[in-house]
Order: sequence, then structure tokens, then C-alpha cells
Amino acid sequence: MPISYFIPDWDDRVDPNYDFLADKHTPRRNPYHDDRYAHEIYAPNPLYDGVLLSRAVIDDAGKKLEHLMSSQSVHTYLRLPSTYKVLGDCGAFSYWEEEVPPYSTSDMVSFYEILGFDYGVSIDHLILAHADAERRRRQELTLSNAADFLAEHNQECRFIPIGVAQGWNPASYCYAVKKLLQMGYTYLALGGLVRSTTEQILAILQTIKPELQANTQLHLFGVSRPEYVETFAQLGVTSFDSTSRLRRAWMDGRRNYFLGNMTFSAIRVPDAHRLVKKKPTIDQDVALHLEQIALSALRTYGANKAAENLEEVLAAVLAYAELADQVTTHTRSDYRETLVRRPWDYCKCAICEAIKVEVLIFRGNNRNRRRGFHNTWQLYKQLHGYEQELPPPLNAADALEQHALRL
Ligand SMILES: [Zn+2]
Repeated sequence: MPISYFIPDWDDRVDPNYDFLADKHTPRRNPYHDDRYAHEIYAPNPLYDGVLLSRAVIDDAGKKLEHLMSSQSVHTYLRLPSTYKVLGDCGAFSYWEEEVPPYSTSDMVSFYEILGFDYGVSIDHLILAHADAERRRRQELTLSNAADFLAEHNQECRFIPIGVAQGWNPASYCYAVKKLLQMGYTYLALGGLVRSTTEQILAILQTIKPELQANTQLHLFGVSRPEYVETFAQLGVTSFDSTSRLRRAWMDGRRNYFLGNMTFSAIRVPDAHRLVKKKPTIDQDVALHLEQIALSALRTYGANKAAENLEEVLAAVLAYAELADQVTTHTRSDYRETLVRRPWDYCKCAICEAIKVEVLIFRGNNRNRRRGFHNTWQLYKQLHGYEQELPPPLNAADALEQHALRL
């Protein structure tokens, strides 16, 4: 069975009727009601197995708690079909500096139960301290919260309880895992590993593996390198959450569009009005002119598979990138590779099929977040063994050109 993938909820939505040609939102739209989550854009096909909703994120975001409570259920609030699972936790990263977590066990149990979470995680406290006594205090606090959580979780509760293990090295994680299993948990989660290296995570998983029972489920919180999840799965991990692929769409300056195991650079064409606002020395008329030339060159090239004007398109996007001061040593070869290989023609996801080359344009939320949704779809497909068709290798002339540009 493939590992289950949860996506943390950070209000990632897009305007479903965004006008890409005019770069305009749907008139009079209400972002909460009218914008769409990734699972709505891709419906009826899933691109994750569930959503991770953190209590702290809800509490911190103005009207979010109000919306959630008035929806009466997390599935309604997230507009999620019941085939998707919702995993709740406290969001320990938001209170790690506090002496103790700001929530009580009975409060969290009723929060999960009333709102219809599928899984609820016990109250944990991150161990980021170096002093031994403080590490142990936080670990014991997390374990005693887990014991209380299970005691509070009575037979009428419909959500499945998950006990969290916090630690600072393989032995301490193993100690926590053993304690949770003794308490009676069958679903465990490992917390505090967001900043750990793959080697450190593997060492912890290898140490705890002999302790896990045949029916033990294991969640890994915050996996920043989803390419390793299959290795983690072999070591007993049954679920994980990650926003890595989604966020890379706009946080990674170069490798921000995934196609199977290949990555491509989206081409930056920033909004000219915003660009001039940020850099008032740029002539507005020149910026608007070069922006439109770049966009229209990309659109014509994107729509025409037999396009032969690669160098012209490259020149147009680079001219605007130079004006915007966005040309680095890699830009020319990165953009050229994207244009030569045309990855948007190979992805079968709903977004790429609908907007084609627009998804490869680095510009504003509606393109960048859609690219993140596409990346998430690619990851989910990969986890399910989908063989993504890839662009053919570069021909000799293009390969030479790319090589020369990289020198
Ligand atoms: Zn796609």
C-alpha cells in the first residue's frame, strides 16, 4: 500500500476563473468562498490523501477559527470529500519557546471530536534545547500528555488518536516510541525532524524499526525531501506531510517545476507595474513594452509545438529579465532548457492541460500556486508508481549549446 500523503493547510487556493491573458481576477470574488483548493481544482482525482490542520495556525489567523466553528466540520470547512482524511495537531512549532504548550488535553480531544477530524495528535513540545535536563523535561511532558490523551479518548470518540514521539537522537526517539507502544497507541508520529538531515532521519527510523509491531502506523511530520519517502516507507513510515513540492514552486529560484524526477526553471516575467513600483529608476513604458513582448512570445511559442523561434523567445524573456535585474549566471541556460524541452506539453495534470505554458511563467499567485499544485500532483502520482512521460534528451546541437552556456 502506498504511503499516505497529507498536505498542511496554509490557505493555498487559487482563483478558478483567473484571466491569464488580461491578468485579472474574477470580478467581485470573495477569496475564501470563490477561490479553490488544489483538491477542488483536480476533483474528482486526488492529489493527496488528506490535509493536516494545525490548531495554532487556525488560532493565529483572524477569522479562521470562526469559519471553522461555523462550518461545524473540518471536511466542510476545507470543502473536502469524506474520502480525504483530516489529521489534526497542535502546531508545536508555534509555541516551542513557551515553557509549556498552551492547550489542554481535554480541550484538544473535544476540538478533534466536535469538528470531525479523522486523526488527532496528542499535545507535544518540540525539543530544540541543548541542555540535557530541558530535553528530558520536554520529552517527559510530551509522553505524559500522550498518556492523558489516550485516557481522555473514550470509546465514543470517532477520531483515531496518534501519540507523538519527540527526541534528539536515535536512542531518545526509540525510548519515546517504546513508551507510546506500551501505552497502547497503534498510530505514532515522529515530531521535531523538520530540520534533520536525511541521514539523521534514517538513523532514527533504523533504530526504532525493531520496536514497531505489525499493526503500527507511523507518521513523519514535515518531510522536506519527499524524494526519500519511499526509503522511509521501507523503514515503517506509513504517512507523512509535506509542503515542500508546493512551496518550491515559488521559493526555489531555479528548480521549481517538477516532471517526474526532472526539474525545470519557470521563466520570470514579473508584473511591470509592480516592478516599477519596486525599482522606480526603471522607465515604466519600457517595462510595459518588454513585459508584453516576453509574455506574447512565450504564449505563441507555448501553443505551437513546431515552434522554431526559440532564440527569439529566449531573447525576449532575457531582455525583460535584464531590465528587472533578474539574470544570474544560470538564467540563460535554465530558461533555454525549459524552452527547448517544453515540459508543459508532457504533464497530464488538469492545470497543465488547461493553462499550458502559463504554468511555467513565474508571476503572481495564480500562476505560482498553480505550479505548486502541479508539483504536488506530480509527487502524488510518483508515490503511486505513475510513469511520467519525459521530454526526449537534447539533440547534439542543443546539448552543446547548453554546455557552452553553463561554462
Ligand atoms: Zn501539471
